[in-house]
Amino acid sequence: MKNIDILIIGAGISGAVLAERYASIGKKVLIIEKRDHIAGNCYDYIDENKILVSKYGAHLFHTNEAAVWKYVNQFSDWYSWEHKVIARVDDKTVPIPVNITTVNELFNINITTEDEMKTWLEENRTPLEKPANGEEAVLNRVGPVLYEKMFKHYTKKQWDKYPAELDASVLERIPVRTNYDDRYFSDTYQALPKGGYTQLFEKILDNPNIEVLLETDYFEVKEQYAQYEKLFYTGPVDRFFEFKHSLEEKLEYRSINFVSESYDTEFYQENSVVNYPGTEVDFTRIIEYKHFGNQISDKTTVVKEFTVDEGEPYYPVPNPKNQKIYDRYQSEAAKLIDIYFVGRLANYKYFNMDQAFKNALDLFDTLEKNSTSHYKT
Ligand code: UDP
Repeated sequence: MKNIDILIIGAGISGAVLAERYASIGKKVLIIEKRDHIAGNCYDYIDENKILVSKYGAHLFHTNEAAVWKYVNQFSDWYSWEHKVIARVDDKTVPIPVNITTVNELFNINITTEDEMKTWLEENRTPLEKPANGEEAVLNRVGPVLYEKMFKHYTKKQWDKYPAELDASVLERIPVRTNYDDRYFSDTYQALPKGGYTQLFEKILDNPNIEVLLETDYFEVKEQYAQYEKLFYTGPVDRFFEFKHSLEEKLEYRSINFVSESYDTEFYQENSVVNYPGTEVDFTRIIEYKHFGNQISDKTTVVKEFTVDEGEPYYPVPNPKNQKIYDRYQSEAAKLIDIYFVGRLANYKYFNMDQAFKNALDLFDTLEKNSTSHYKT
């Protein structure tokens, strides 16, 4: 066995960033990855219709962090992509986040100014000082009718829980707009990597100090890799501790069953993402990948997303019950020397991509204060 300084479990954002950072200061890094590919859930590839598709759902990069933006630009050119989402509600198609157009369409009214929209929201929302859960968060913002039409059932399909059973922060991910802005995100930097995420990760990992071992379950080879300076674990936190606190209550994750369909037509739908917040279908949304980067093909690939509780864990489920179970694991994790838990699954946090980049970069800077390599400089 070769000498390893840094052992990393998982080749997603957190793992790749830490590998790149440590390799840059001359450390020998080994990444052990269970899947047969790098890039974690950002993994994308060219499919049989010659369309760049993501295996684990659309990934839209957006950030307000200039330093993160600068960091990712070292490894790919990016093209500007201001993501938009539309939703089929009743027999209408409306923008989400809720904006003036959404309200006008759904209520057959004619709001034209921000002030009118603010008044409409004041008249319709259910003011709550400190929303305690997802339902209260939505009621506080838009009131009961839009809650029912756009949030309640989508959330049930996505989480198998109603918004009242989730933290307010889950539903607060989506803003409400008092203007016509129909972008999904408002961040300063919104872009997609030219050539895709897999190429971006190849570039991040392109360093002779980094070795990646694919199709290897760390827990099956653990004994062989017990010598390291530091270990960074990016998998599910409960797996690391052999689910020891799960005897009565299991830490919950949501997975997605991606059902891909190919059509012999130029476009299937008018937008990259169409949400189905109603009960008429079981899937939450349909993604048509061809729209991203305006790809050209005679055919098109669409993917329907059915959220399920079994399968690979993609989402932590933020609510007080899971937080309590997580806290038990977290306090054990904190006691370990030279072992660090990083990323969405290991921290059990609903991180966006830029937060995953930032946390990994910040962790490196904190641990290696004395090194000359800092991403912000
Ligand atoms: N959501 C909803 N209706 C929608 C879109 C989102 O109720 O049309 C809620 C739902 O609970 C979802 C959450 O808002 O899980 C966050 O949505 P986001 O698009 O950020 O989810 P992601 O893209 O991470 O799956």
